[in-house]
Amino acid sequence: PEPLPLQEIVFDNVSFRYSEDTPDVLKNVSFTLKKGDRLALVGTTGSGKSTIIKLLAKTYTGYRGSIKINGIELTDLPLAQVRETISVMQQDIFMFNNTIEFNISLGREAITHEAVEQAASFVFANHFINKLPGGYQFVVQDNGDNLSKGQAQLISFARAICSNNELIILDEATSAVDSVTEQYIQQAIANIFSLKTVIAVAHRLSTIKNSDLILVLEEGEIIERGNHLEL
Ligand code: ATP
Ligand code: MG
Repeated sequence: PEPLPLQEIVFDNVSFRYSEDTPDVLKNVSFTLKKGDRLALVGTTGSGKSTIIKLLAKTYTGYRGSIKINGIELTDLPLAQVRETISVMQQDIFMFNNTIEFNISLGREAITHEAVEQAASFVFANHFINKLPGGYQFVVQDNGDNLSKGQAQLISFARAICSNNELIILDEATSAVDSVTEQYIQQAIANIFSLKTVIAVAHRLSTIKNSDLILVLEEGEIIERGNHLEL
């Protein structure tokens, strides 16, 4: 299926529990995101940030209230089409036992080597890739064992840029990376924010500062909303 030309995402009074005999982990969550917006989700562990993302990516259904993309209820959109529209970058990055190039292009023939290099440059991944033996032909081990966490993150950013998805969701990792990689990651996130519609589960102050709207969650409820100057 073709990706939807993203205009608007609306959560209207969304509540959700993972099973019938457990309490709601999201309670009456409402927000609107328009094309080009940058939304940051912040809040303590277990407050429901990843659950919002999982609902939007249709990993779970059975929510109450309404979630609409371009006015269409999510339950009426085929999963494949949702996945073509949204690119989710998880905290655990999936890596294929294949070349760096493959891990960015995912083997899609339409994506040329030039496009892979451009995407990598855009997210500052080219610096470390060019130092690897074989460069873009360097073979990544299962689970990305021969890359650092920060390098794997930069690869996943390049992958998202190549995907052409209109909405990028970033579940920002908290894991410590070295300070040079940290700077690249911060600049990469700033670049992605300038190009795409983004929802970020944010831990970095720099990510939060680059957002248009910050939602603060606590125990499944939005307790504050605004930009970083207002909060
Ligand atoms: P963190 O910052 O630690 O990633 P979070 O804000 O992303 O936290 P969620 O993962 O959305 O939090 O979890 C919200 C609540 O839902 C928590 O109470 C959690 O225990 C519960 N939960 C999350 N995933 C599941 C699941 N698969 N089954 C049952 N309960 C779950
Ligand atoms: Mg989470």
